Amino acid sequence: MDFKFSEADEAFRREFRSWLEKNLPRDWRSDGEERDPDDRSEFERRRAWHRKLYDGGWMCIHWPKEYGGRGATLLQQLVYSQELERAKAPPTVNFQGIARVGPTLMQWGTPEQKMRFIPKIPPAEEIWCQGLSEPNHGSDLAAVETRAVDEGDHFIVNGSKIWTSNAHVADFSTLLCRTDPDAPKHRGLSYLLVDMKTPGVTVRPLVQITGEKGFNQVFFEDVRVPKTNLVGQKNQGWMVAMTNMMFERTIHGGRTDMMVEVRQLEELARTVYRDGRPAWEDSYVRQCIGAFACEAEALKYTSYRQLTRQLKGLQPGPEGSVMKLGTSDLNLRIQKFAMELLGPYSQFEYMSTGAVDRGKWLHRMLAARRGTIAAGTNEIQHNIIGERVLGLPKG
Ligand SMILES: Cc1cc2nc3c(=O)[nH]c(=O)nc-3n(C[C@H](O)[C@H](O)[C@H](O)COP(=O)(O)OP(=O)(O)OC[C@H]3O[C@@H](n4cnc5c(N)ncnc54)[C@H](O)[C@@H]3O)c2cc1C
Repeated sequence: MDFKFSEADEAFRREFRSWLEKNLPRDWRSDGEERDPDDRSEFERRRAWHRKLYDGGWMCIHWPKEYGGRGATLLQQLVYSQELERAKAPPTVNFQGIARVGPTLMQWGTPEQKMRFIPKIPPAEEIWCQGLSEPNHGSDLAAVETRAVDEGDHFIVNGSKIWTSNAHVADFSTLLCRTDPDAPKHRGLSYLLVDMKTPGVTVRPLVQITGEKGFNQVFFEDVRVPKTNLVGQKNQGWMVAMTNMMFERTIHGGRTDMMVEVRQLEELARTVYRDGRPAWEDSYVRQCIGAFACEAEALKYTSYRQLTRQLKGLQPGPEGSVMKLGTSDLNLRIQKFAMELLGPYSQFEYMSTGAVDRGKWLHRMLAARRGTIAAGTNEIQHNIIGERVLGLPKG
């Protein structure tokens, strides 16, 4: 493993860093506090930042040049993420489209689908969500029940999807649905693209434990979807969905630097008092934070191992599941420790007057649960590691 970046990568870093310095307004930089993505002005701020990156040629850098990307190497993608994090850049708005839908369409889409849908993803002209999970089928995704009946030149869809992030702002959704109820469960599925404005589509927001409404339940009642929006072959949608999931897991497992969270915890420990002196002066507190730092470092090297495999063109190894499990679990424990440091002050809600750091810690602790569930729960990751890595019998 070589930890050094090449001169070309460093030149790439300098170019992007200098662009960020010129183009990211000071007051757009994250001050370390969470902002409510459901707030319309916050959404528009993120969209404006997204457009700025796009106009500057810094959006979708990992996409091939023919689709408007830069064809950036894996190491350049790492440099790009590091620089965004360093500059405290705000999030962008079409994450599902860019990370999952676009790459899936590049692999499976017809020439017409590629031409119609892909170009509108990078500039966020069309926002995407993905309709996979259902009220009774999340981990066991292949058992989805939403039905699409073949009516010649179109399908008629009935059913419901749940936990659909961003459906309330989306123009289109991917949809994994059952087209052959008599076939074995993985073989009777198809993958459709649904215009969210089609009559019969209803989006109902679901309020999360943090109070935010980023999730939704989406209902499909006799929704007409043209056959031209079928991706891959009818009844072979599982393969398309797996491509989609592969991009999803790579992204979720891709976080490399948990030390950012550890450092913020350290800052908190230096700010709050315990037994009349800064909590940081308590050796128990320092030991706990030191242990978190060790785990964060170990995860960083695991992510480098994952990267090395990818650079060598090898099949994805167990590192993806280990990273997903390790980062989400460590994050949750860090946020819970912040609650311990804050004591009774941990009860202050987000943005309430008198709260330490405007209540961001309670918000973060509640939000940390998301990472342990999304893109395959931590229990499922344990199963994967147990069965596929350690060779344990199936549970
Ligand atoms: C932040 C976030 C964003 C999301 N965004 C989307 C989205 O945009 N689109 C979308 O389609 N979905 C989305 N989801 C849904 C997500 O993919 C599912 O929540 C997840 O796959 C789990 O499915 P489930 O909620 O149905 O839980 P279930 O599968 O019902 O599981 C319930 C519990 O049982 C455990 N369990 C289930 N099976 C096993 C097993 N075999 N062995 C051991 N334990 C098991 C699980 O770990 C869990 O604790 C999102 C979820 C979150 C948290």
